[in-house]
Amino acid sequence: MPGPILRIAVPSPLYKTFDYLPPPDCDSATLLPGLRIRVPFGRRQTVGVLVAVGADSELAPAALRPALAALDREPILPADVLALIQWAQCYYHHPPGEVFATALPVLLRQGESAVIPRPPPIWRITTAGQTAMAESVALRRAPVQRLVLDHLAQCPAGFDAETLRPVVRDSAATLRALCARGWVESIAADSPTTTDAAADVPATPPTPSAAQADAVAAIRAELDRFQVFLLEGVTGSGKTEVYLRLIEAVLARGRQALVLAPEIGLTPQLLARFRERLPEPLAVLHSGLSDRERLNAWLLAREGTAKVVVGTRSAVFVPLRAPGILIVDEEHDPSYKQQDGFRYHARDLAVIRGHQLGIPVVLGSATPALESVQNARGGRYRRLSLPERVGGGTEPPILILDVRRQPMTEGLSQPLLERMRAHLDRNEQVLLFLNRRGFAPILLCHECGWLSQCRHCDARMTLHLRQRRLTCHHCGDNRPVDTVCPVCGSVDLRAVGHGTERLETALRPVFPEIGIARIDRDSTRRRGRLETLLADIHNGDRRILIGTQMLAKGHHFPDVTLVGIVDADQGLYGVDFRSSERMAQLILQVAGRAGRAEKPGIVVIQTHHPDHPLLRVLVSEGYPAFAAAALAEREAALLPPFAHQALLRAEAVDPERATAFLDAARALAEPIADGLELLGPAPAPMERRAGRYRAHLLLQAARRQDLRRCLDLWIVQLWARPADRQVRWSLDVDPVELY
Ligand code: ADP
Ligand code: ZN
Ligand code: ZN
Repeated sequence: MPGPILRIAVPSPLYKTFDYLPPPDCDSATLLPGLRIRVPFGRRQTVGVLVAVGADSELAPAALRPALAALDREPILPADVLALIQWAQCYYHHPPGEVFATALPVLLRQGESAVIPRPPPIWRITTAGQTAMAESVALRRAPVQRLVLDHLAQCPAGFDAETLRPVVRDSAATLRALCARGWVESIAADSPTTTDAAADVPATPPTPSAAQADAVAAIRAELDRFQVFLLEGVTGSGKTEVYLRLIEAVLARGRQALVLAPEIGLTPQLLARFRERLPEPLAVLHSGLSDRERLNAWLLAREGTAKVVVGTRSAVFVPLRAPGILIVDEEHDPSYKQQDGFRYHARDLAVIRGHQLGIPVVLGSATPALESVQNARGGRYRRLSLPERVGGGTEPPILILDVRRQPMTEGLSQPLLERMRAHLDRNEQVLLFLNRRGFAPILLCHECGWLSQCRHCDARMTLHLRQRRLTCHHCGDNRPVDTVCPVCGSVDLRAVGHGTERLETALRPVFPEIGIARIDRDSTRRRGRLETLLADIHNGDRRILIGTQMLAKGHHFPDVTLVGIVDADQGLYGVDFRSSERMAQLILQVAGRAGRAEKPGIVVIQTHHPDHPLLRVLVSEGYPAFAAAALAEREAALLPPFAHQALLRAEAVDPERATAFLDAARALAEPIADGLELLGPAPAPMERRAGRYRAHLLLQAARRQDLRRCLDLWIVQLWARPADRQVRWSLDVDPVELY
């Protein structure tokens, strides 16, 4: 029996869609891709998305089950988002159900209605109603109406019918009757809360600098077609101002703007500026929202009510009624890459989406990713630069501080401490950057050498002294701090190495009169805590700032005039070939927090490798020169962006099984690996994590099309193998971390 067969993406880790018959009593003309469909799946029911309607199925007719019902009258996902999902699914070779799950808010996945809940009308008493009550004759024979009027008279702002239900059971009918007599009136309630209409009077924009004006003009000339712009400008050079001008231009044409930012919760200043400047409704999408808030924001973007949408990574999939521009702020930020499950890169997908839609994409950064720099060199992206800070300030000079053979006080050298004192004496602020939270990364027995090893990982447990616990930052396992060595019973246990908590503890007695703000994931866990700390910094109550990369993002601290990078060595010789790039980006990002026009700042980097060539170039010549040198190294070593990689990861409780899977995978790849290099299987840099052994196989090709061709064939073969249920595996295309 031929007939329409529905191909449905069902939330499942399997690498395929599932075939169903249309739901009973359903007009098949209404079955359009992008609809949510409730289907039986195994013994339960679930919500899938209709991907395509086909004419036949590989399944026997008797094995096909009918879908239960369509949940939407029209597709919840428009054609352009379906096209983006389709592209992502093919490119990343990921199970369709999980890709759709990333693109849809959780409530829609659970079958929630996609209609924006409009708040019920609010009822108020009219002047005629007041008069009627005063006269009271007219109401003598209507006690129920009188009761309702009584209540409304007490509340000038009014009530909705639901609130009045405890007063009179059939409140809606009573209100209708009162309305017919002209004694009450209804007013529309405010629109849903996630779009907040911005300030009534938009703030006056500054006059753009010449560089800003050029950048805006260059992009405005291309609003009708696809072009990627790499907007490179040091912190404070006015990139956000350029975004705002472009958004205004796009809104004036009746289109919407989508802005991606790394972590909105941490950068309230960006949102505040958008709200201040843009008079149109704005929707925000990030993980700090409730499911309901997320859904509302998503739906408002989809219906076009929200003109500007600001969101984190997964917002790249948000439907827009009239998309006009895509902006990716801090485009180099690693958080754009999802590191588990569906490992997509939101910046790269934004570029694809812009291409599919035929609209411009703006990638902004002070320290663009080397991939983007290379794309700009090759002419694929157009580079626009804002070379100077606006308002005449200069970038702070960076000083390399050689700490070899220096006496150190809790990780701080004497010269750095002296500088701190000088700046604090001038009533300025000091920022210390240390990308390691907790007190110390290791607890060591001085008697026998025992280390606070995690039971589940090849990693040490970090000492958190304030909570008196040892915590593994990789699997989350934690336990009380040992007071005696579990091996030899000695009580001589020592904290080795430095974390932010230790730095804070050590600095209190050194600067007893000065307030310290420590900003990391531990100190800001409680809601509102980050805001309090930031407020204390801004009003000068705390003048020493200690923090991890949380502190490096988005904030402006105008009174900070000294930035200390406590330990740059980790980044210089990290296991990953990207670690020096990350370190350079972090250094400049932290440096960017310091000083503004009125108060020049200085940045001091403590290192045991003062002659590291890339560090030298960065410090003496700036990021563009660093990028050129780092790209030359990558090119010589044939590493990305001069090669294209995919990483097949496998993990299992039993190490043999993980390796056996990768060996078999390699054997399958070899005959189809023209133009590819296969590296491994090799153990992951952290071989055991959360009790499982991890290994990987790296595929690398000089030409992207060789890699794609191989992956297309290979992944199908991998899925076709009889599964070893003990092995978990996943493919990471364009991995940014090799562990
Ligand atoms: P970035 O995003 O590159 O860090 P911003 O756009 O935040 O830079 O600009 C830094 C500061 O300078 C902000 O306070 C902003 O309001 C201000 N600013 C931006 N452009 C101008 C301008 N043309 N004239 C004066 N001030 C400006
Ligand atoms: Zn011991
Ligand atoms: Zn662990």
